[in-house]
Amino acid sequence: MRLILLGPPGAGKGTQAARLEKHFGIKQLSTGDMLRAAVASGSEIGQQAKAVMERGELVSDEIVVGIISDVVDQDEVANGYILDGFPRTVAQAEALDAMLREKSSKLDCVVEMKVDDSVLVARITGRYTCAKCGAGYHKEFQKPQTEGVCDNCGGTEFKTRADDNEETVKSRLVAYHAQTAPLIDYYGKKGLLRSVDGMADIDEVTKEIVSVLEKVKAA
Ligand code: ADP
Ligand code: ADP
Ligand code: ZN
Repeated sequence: MRLILLGPPGAGKGTQAARLEKHFGIKQLSTGDMLRAAVASGSEIGQQAKAVMERGELVSDEIVVGIISDVVDQDEVANGYILDGFPRTVAQAEALDAMLREKSSKLDCVVEMKVDDSVLVARITGRYTCAKCGAGYHKEFQKPQTEGVCDNCGGTEFKTRADDNEETVKSRLVAYHAQTAPLIDYYGKKGLLRSVDGMADIDEVTKEIVSVLEKVKAA
């Protein structure tokens, strides 16, 4: 199964992708994670992306499409994948369509996670991850069972993202509405769009997405 999780920054795409990865045995492909790895490695792409990401703007379509076209070809995603944070512009969506066409492959579903802007700032400014395994947490909404200890790996070091501050979040929301939201219509017209309520509890959202995807699989 090949699907896209579409939604604003902080909608819960990464949180749900990690759960769907386990449930369906397909891989999460996050362009944000890939770009952060490039920045950390100091590669040429990373150097180009760093300042853009810190400003909360979108990295060029050329860079992002280049990154994703390398990974969708790999054997480990032959079973399917969850695109998290890609595509983010109509040009990226068109490039993805062309890539899929070339492989005689297609998307099964685009899941839109609907969340009001009013809660996104709190979601993003409270977000942190385990430094060892990358598991995602939130200061208020998703605490580890034992304070300071990762549920997943027992790690005790955590990190926050450089761009998860209130100012950058505002630019990221502007970018989402101007450049990414048009994809709702783009995939709606193709008949691929399913919308879920991303304001619900994390477990509820998982249930709703799984139910949507089970129906798509059965169809
Ligand atoms: P995205 O990948 O869409 O940017 P994340 O999955 O990283 O979003 O979620 C942003 C933050 O909000 C994280 O700290 C996460 O723990 C928290 N979160 C995710 N889903 C929910 C939810 N349904 N309710 C409350 N908090 C959530
Ligand atoms: P979030 O879901 O919280 O917005 P991501 O991890 O998906 O965060 O993205 C972080 C940043 O990486 C974005 O603000 C943007 O600068 C860059 N980025 C990630 N994916 C893309 C993409 N598909 N196109 C352009 N820029 C991207
Ligand atoms: Zn961990």
